[in-house]
Amino acid sequence: MTAISGPKADGNSLKAANVGRETVIIGLEVHCQLNTASKLFCGCSTGYRDDPPNTHVCPTCLGLPGSLPAMNRRAVEYALRVAKALNCQVAEEAEFARKNYFYPDLPKGFQITMYNRPLAERGYLDIEGDEGEKRVRITRVHLEEDPGRLVHMGTPDRPRYTLVDYNRSGIPLIEIVTEPDLRSPKEARRLLNGLRTTLEYLGVFDGDQEGALRVDANISIPGSERVEVKNISSYRGVEKALTFEITRQKGVIRRGLKVKRETRHFVEARGVTTSARSKEQEHDYRYFTEPDLRPLQVRDWVEEIALPELPAARRERFMDQYGISPEHARTLCGELRLADFFEQMAECGAPLLAATWVADTLQGELNYREMEIRKVPPAHFRELLGLVDRKELTDKAAVEVLRLMLDQCVAGEDVQTPARIMEINALGKTTGDAFTGVVREVIAECADAVRDYRAGRGEALNFLVGQVMKRTRGCADPKELTRILREELAQQGS
Ligand SMILES: [Zn+2]
Repeated sequence: MTAISGPKADGNSLKAANVGRETVIIGLEVHCQLNTASKLFCGCSTGYRDDPPNTHVCPTCLGLPGSLPAMNRRAVEYALRVAKALNCQVAEEAEFARKNYFYPDLPKGFQITMYNRPLAERGYLDIEGDEGEKRVRITRVHLEEDPGRLVHMGTPDRPRYTLVDYNRSGIPLIEIVTEPDLRSPKEARRLLNGLRTTLEYLGVFDGDQEGALRVDANISIPGSERVEVKNISSYRGVEKALTFEITRQKGVIRRGLKVKRETRHFVEARGVTTSARSKEQEHDYRYFTEPDLRPLQVRDWVEEIALPELPAARRERFMDQYGISPEHARTLCGELRLADFFEQMAECGAPLLAATWVADTLQGELNYREMEIRKVPPAHFRELLGLVDRKELTDKAAVEVLRLMLDQCVAGEDVQTPARIMEINALGKTTGDAFTGVVREVIAECADAVRDYRAGRGEALNFLVGQVMKRTRGCADPKELTRILREELAQQGS
């Protein structure tokens, strides 16, 4: 580490004056676990999460002397899919290197990664930026092995120790590095969402798995040193860590001090970053070509890879094919399962109704319950849409049916059909005679409002409609109700 030079008063006060208006510069390094069946360099299974520690291991992923890596072809193919989808230039030949460092989660003493010759470079991903559509440049995409996992035990007042689990050691990781093109925590989160969606559409990533995504963020305020925040492991964490870090750095500058170039850790539970260690220089890792693996010939290979429909294309198609709004298309295509669910619903007719109900109503109810779309029974939801479409349920009563249905899903109960829920809770639309009685009741009881109505005050009718709605618990169609009220008032008035 170089010594910190003495404060330059002029420079600092100038900077401090500008802090409020300064932009921030953010670049991300995103690590995603590829969902291959076996590890990157051995045949051990990657489905370890429900199993005891150190049960998915072999001499290779334990780094025992004499063991040799064997390349997992599927992992390279998955990585190439990602490179192609991110519009990267794929290398003629990619080469693995050893990144040397000593750490308990890395029994070999080095990590096999790509350094001088990565798989692909110079791509981009378009996101919705703070000021409209934005192209974020991708610096590089490469493959590497995941280290093991350290579990820190104990509390400050009890002896602390660390356990190590090598089940994760050797899981294929793809590292995606962006240029410092992001200007706010929100943009960083949108980029992550975009990457996640793209990788899920490609079928190479399961973003719901714990620890499947880890992010390092580089962040600086123009004119100041860059700080790296390590090991952020959730989508929400990225926005929180960056927001904290921006506030911290601006505070340092405002006090006339200098932001130190360093690595910091994000402590998710407290929502803060803490100083970790002075940043290693690249030469500390003593990279050299991995002698046990041949270079990968990938340029021709990538030509053969056919990509599935990606989020942007699907958005366009949804608008063309189903006539839905750009906002709905964006929401629906922002998550693979949501898009699939909508399409299942839309195929049964009434796509506009399906778009509103899936993108707005259902999404809102799911978020409220922190529930996943895959837990919603499609046949039930389709039936609910049918009831609304045929006007057997009012919108308001249908939301009530949906809520009861989702509550049953959450409770793990047998989920009743919407028709059954409607029947049990008497939520079906009341029509004709059934609410003529209620209308007469309301007219009889609300003499003032009736008088106002006859005196030509239109809002009195709304009041009467409201009263009837209340008594029928939202089961009446407001339009039909208004018509009946008018008729009834006309009859009684004559
Ligand atoms: Zn193994």
